[in-house]
Amino acid sequence: MAAPTRSSDGPDPGLHTLRPPHTLAPDIQAGSTMKLFDLTGKVAVVTGGNGGIGLGMAEGMASCGASIVISGRNAEKASTALDVLRGHGVPAVFIAADVTKKAECVALIAGAESQFGRVDILVNNAGTAIRKMPQDYTEEEWHQVMDTNLTSAFLCSQAAYHAMVKVGGGKMINIGSMMSLFGAPYATPYASSKGGIVQMTRAMATAWAKENIQVNAVLPGWIDTDLTKRARQQVPGLHESVEKRTPTARWGVPHDMAGIAAFLASPASDFVTGTAIPVDGGFSIGM
Ligand code: NDP
Repeated sequence: MAAPTRSSDGPDPGLHTLRPPHTLAPDIQAGSTMKLFDLTGKVAVVTGGNGGIGLGMAEGMASCGASIVISGRNAEKASTALDVLRGHGVPAVFIAADVTKKAECVALIAGAESQFGRVDILVNNAGTAIRKMPQDYTEEEWHQVMDTNLTSAFLCSQAAYHAMVKVGGGKMINIGSMMSLFGAPYATPYASSKGGIVQMTRAMATAWAKENIQVNAVLPGWIDTDLTKRARQQVPGLHESVEKRTPTARWGVPHDMAGIAAFLASPASDFVTGTAIPVDGGFSIGM
């Protein structure tokens, strides 16, 4: 496309805020490439960060220098996770919270602020699944899945918004699923919650862009964690059918989620918001 021309001297009100093409923002000039992913001085809160995908993402951010707050209900699991995170040379703490309860979501963010003085990054990762046909769920089971997977993300984001505004912006990363894209007979509340995650991400991204808060979703494929171990026990042939359909011909591991967390948490993604990025070994693009 030809460069726009101006008919008179002086700043053009429509163009004067644009950078010349092909120049980088001052903080990511050549010679300091790694600053793109530098999280030194940043504080990340990861719900369900005491294991599985949450720990994989927390490790990605820890390896870029972020201080980490992991949350969950199981303190024993958390103590192993903290050892892993501190192995990256960053401070890491556990704050117990049941994210289905609003007061505990608010206390989690407040606790992170009082531990580290700020919150810059929130990963809404806590999740659960109950596998049944739609006609068999109780109302309580429906709410359990929706509250853990979707309402919790809404409540933690609301609390984190106020913390992020105080520090001039932030990054929110919401964990969806292949069930954000596809349906399955045994996953009605799970798919509903994960579809909701994508729309919530888009809505919040538009709402908070002017406050320099980027909100994105990650859609993991099939990752080997406690959650999917249960599914593999319940569904004969699941392990093989995932391998067969996935172009990379393997299940993911939590560490496969480290890079996307580092990207979406860092200045490298400052112009990326409202997206839902599959990290799935190609599962969602095959037939
Ligand atoms: P895990 O079961 O290993 O992790 C789930 C985490 O959520 C646990 O750390 C658990 O901590 C926490 N959690 C669950 N309920 C609550 C609650 N009420 N309050 C606080 N924390 C809670 O599974 P994954 O790592 O696989 O799952 C992580 C996320 O990734 C989920 O949102 C899941 O839906 C999503 N996902 C997973 C996929 C996979 O293939 N594994 C694929 C697509 C999406 P604690 O037990 O201590 O409370």
